[in-house]
Amino acid sequence: MTTTPAAADELLLPVPDEDGAPFWEYAARGELRVQACAACGRLRFPPRPCCPHCRSFDSEWRRMSGRGRIWSYVRPHPPLLPAYAAQAPYNVILVELADAPHIRLAGNLVTSADAPLDSVDPARLRIGARVHVVFTETGGMTVPRWMLEKS
Ligand SMILES: [Zn+2]
Repeated sequence: MTTTPAAADELLLPVPDEDGAPFWEYAARGELRVQACAACGRLRFPPRPCCPHCRSFDSEWRRMSGRGRIWSYVRPHPPLLPAYAAQAPYNVILVELADAPHIRLAGNLVTSADAPLDSVDPARLRIGARVHVVFTETGGMTVPRWMLEKS
């Protein structure tokens, strides 16, 4: 999964490759799915052609609950690309999936799906906090973001 250069006022967008394309297609339907080996059943991320455990090339995409916990986070500060600098300091979190604790997805914690990257009070960032996935469309792509569970 890579990103592409963007105009100065745009956030970077994912550029799906052949292995990762289904992740984005499911995201566009509001589903968080992770690639699994169709032979041994183990989940893997990032997507790739071959299972690192049994070397099978057969795979499927399993729907996740969309729940997880903040495993770690950072608050980027300038120098950043202009579109990011405008929202800094914001947060980037690593989410440990409840369904697959060995898989961690990078994303942003926001107050609603379409809220700005800096919408969460930094005092609410806490390792271990429960989160759930939401989806927003940006630049023609649907991307996952994360919201805190109500406690
Ligand atoms: Zn396997």
